Amino acid sequence: MKILVAPVTLSVALLVLSVAVCAQQPSRPETTPSVTLFQNVRVFDGKNLTLIGPTNVLVRGNTIERISNVPIPADRSGNTQIINGGGRTLMPGLIDAHWHAMLVRPPVASLLTADTGYLNLLAGAEATATLLRGFTTVRDVGGPTFGLKQAIDEGVLAGPRIFPSGAIITITGGHGDFRPFTDLPRILGGPLTRQETTGASMVADSPDEVRVRVREQLMQGASQIKLTAGGGVASPHSPLDAPTFTELELRAAVAAAENWGTYVTVHAYTPAAIKRAIAAGVKCIEHGQLMDESTAKLMAERGTWLSIQPFPDELADAFPRGSEQWQKAQEVFAGTNTAYGLAKKYKLKTAWGTDILFSPGLASKQGALLAKLTKWYTPAEALVMATRSNAQLLAMSGKRSPYPGKLGVVEEGALADLLLVDGNPIADIKLVADPAKNFLIIMKDGKIYKNTLPR
Ligand SMILES: [Zn+2]
Repeated sequence: MKILVAPVTLSVALLVLSVAVCAQQPSRPETTPSVTLFQNVRVFDGKNLTLIGPTNVLVRGNTIERISNVPIPADRSGNTQIINGGGRTLMPGLIDAHWHAMLVRPPVASLLTADTGYLNLLAGAEATATLLRGFTTVRDVGGPTFGLKQAIDEGVLAGPRIFPSGAIITITGGHGDFRPFTDLPRILGGPLTRQETTGASMVADSPDEVRVRVREQLMQGASQIKLTAGGGVASPHSPLDAPTFTELELRAAVAAAENWGTYVTVHAYTPAAIKRAIAAGVKCIEHGQLMDESTAKLMAERGTWLSIQPFPDELADAFPRGSEQWQKAQEVFAGTNTAYGLAKKYKLKTAWGTDILFSPGLASKQGALLAKLTKWYTPAEALVMATRSNAQLLAMSGKRSPYPGKLGVVEEGALADLLLVDGNPIADIKLVADPAKNFLIIMKDGKIYKNTLPR
């Protein structure tokens, strides 16, 4: 029996391997010239609300070296790749400021039980798909992404730049605590549970525990730290109205992160959770859908970032209709319009990210979710938010940024993360909803990962 099983297993393994290799081919960098010259493009630079051009853009190595409306001489003898843009739009690669690279594809049950090798491979495939949707950078706000990031940065597989937070830090019963009751009571100093050993989330119930968990993430290369300061929708045990960490616990996290030159961002919907976090020195609020006028005022005074999104209805449908989680989702969704109104009224520093969890179907709509911002913003404003504004939030990581250099803009000296769009996304933002068709070139760090420009 063993003799029969082994070759079958081996051939299945080889088949899987060859499929994986084939699937990788289109997304590998093409022969990588050190110089790329984009001729005759109009530029959306991530800053201005209009297109510039026609112009020419020269990329050398991983940097935008020159932008000029007079022809840039190209060294045709060398390895310069010349791209005639034909008047199409060159824009910065998109940035998703609220992403969970490890949690996008697997269903939640599988996340808690599946083999970690399998989960890493799923996340790798998703990372390649993410880049091919034109998202050249993600700010990962929770999940064990350090290995994935390393593999991408080393060129093992194609994927976006990742600003990792590492494990989500939560209290017992807080948002991100997915432990079953059979894991209770926790023995302080006792063995870790599954969610903790995978690095998905860490439970901390005192300033001392918080400090340890924060420092562990920083040690592994976290570019910012993520805590859950209030209840959440997807978590089985956390009521929406409950602020979770005490101010002292939040302060411990902030002090540890600031010692390391970076900042803490927190998941928080309610005024109570947001205000407590700000009092503790937190610099960014994820979500904020249930904020009120006085909270928005406080955020404006303190210069606190709001990283928010209009959640798609499908997110609630991941839970049985009428269930507690489904109801929590409705409560949060109902606040979205008010929160965006307040963000605009008080001119809050506003970032955008999708927060897609457990759904490859929704992930494929990442660009379409960006287009939904036009309920509150012009297409140009929405695109500025998903490029330069998001990059300004990323820059809060300071020296802990894994990618020194400027992101989110097309300007001389910035990192060369660029999309060539077949059309004008400012006139028609729906172009970003169909990246397979409309993003003809996708460049990250000066390397072209996709080129379907007609030759
Ligand atoms: Zn999230």
